[in-house]
This record gives sequence, structure tokens and C-alpha cells, in this order.
Amino acid sequence: ETSFTVALDNEQATTRFAAEIANALEPGNFVTLSGDLGAGKTTFARALIRFLAGDAAIPVPSPTFTLIQNYDLPRFPIVHADLYRLSGRDELAELGLDDLADGSVVLMEWPDRASDWLPADRIDLSFQLSPSRALDYRDVRVTGYGKLGRRVERIAAL
Ligand code: ADP
Ligand code: MG
Repeated sequence: ETSFTVALDNEQATTRFAAEIANALEPGNFVTLSGDLGAGKTTFARALIRFLAGDAAIPVPSPTFTLIQNYDLPRFPIVHADLYRLSGRDELAELGLDDLADGSVVLMEWPDRASDWLPADRIDLSFQLSPSRALDYRDVRVTGYGKLGRRVERIAAL
């Protein structure tokens, strides 16, 4: 398990950071997005998806109500999930996350709703506001678990 923290001074910094993470991802990677409501999880996912789509204007709605949105992108398919409203195990099974298209990358908000289901190899990005900083400031702690620990070491060195 390897971690580092990045300071994001504003939304543009989050957008740039999302592009860096996008470039470090490989097909099949599993990414969890943690943090309170309004911390910036969806904003980050939207920036990452738009970067990989090569289109800064494609709609990337929050999956709060659908729980899942799929994006067929050139490098790999992305599944953007938000488990905030997940009702339980049955609904999790219905989402089909156990049975994704080959090489799909998952970006999952509120992973704590399925903590005992998560794969051992994953990257977590934990977004936080800081009461002593500007409103647009966030910091994000990047943690690599299992085989993705080494990947996070490499991202940290960028
Ligand atoms: P979450 O998905 O974590 O609930 P959202 O991404 O939906 O959060 O909302 C984050 C809000 O914070 C958005 O309104 C966004 O414009 C704002 N924001 C301000 N600064 C930042 C930043 N540095 N990074 C991400 N979002 C930011
Ligand atoms: Mg969200």
C-alpha cells in the first residue's frame, strides 16, 4: 500500500490532475473516489472521461440516480458508478460489476457502500476540503492497494 497527497488549488488543477491519472491508467484498472458530498469526486470523473474522450463538452451526468453510466472511449471503456443510493447486495449484483466488458476501467464513487466487495488491486483517490483554505481548494490522497501500489509509486514520481 502506497500513498501520496496532491494539492488542487482550483477546479482547473483538478482537471489537469484527472488527465495525469487518465494517462497512468491501464485497461481493467479499478479506481475508487472517496470523500464527502461536494468534495469533487464527480468533477474529477467528468474531467477524466472528457480528457479520454478528447471532447471537453460531452455530457457526463452524475450517476447518482442511475448508479452507473457507461462510456465507450478509445483507450478503454469506462464505467462510472456512484453507490450513494445503493440499497443493498442485490442491487449491487444487478449492476453487473462482476461481469464487465473486458478491460473496462471503473471509477466508483462511495465505494464504502460495497467495501467488502472491492477488488484487492485498486487505486483510491480521497478528496477533501480544507477548512483553513480557499473554497476551491481540495487535497486528494492517492493510495494504491495490492498490485496497484507500484503504479501509485510511479504516479507519485511524475
Ligand atoms: P462529489 O461528487 O464529491 O459529491 P461534485 O464533484 O459533484 O462532488 O461537486 C464538487 C463541487 O465543488 C463542484 O461544484 C465543483 O465545481 C466545486 N469545486 C470547487 N473547487 C474544486 C476543485 N478544486 N476540484 C473539484 N471540484 C471543485
Ligand atoms: Mg458525485
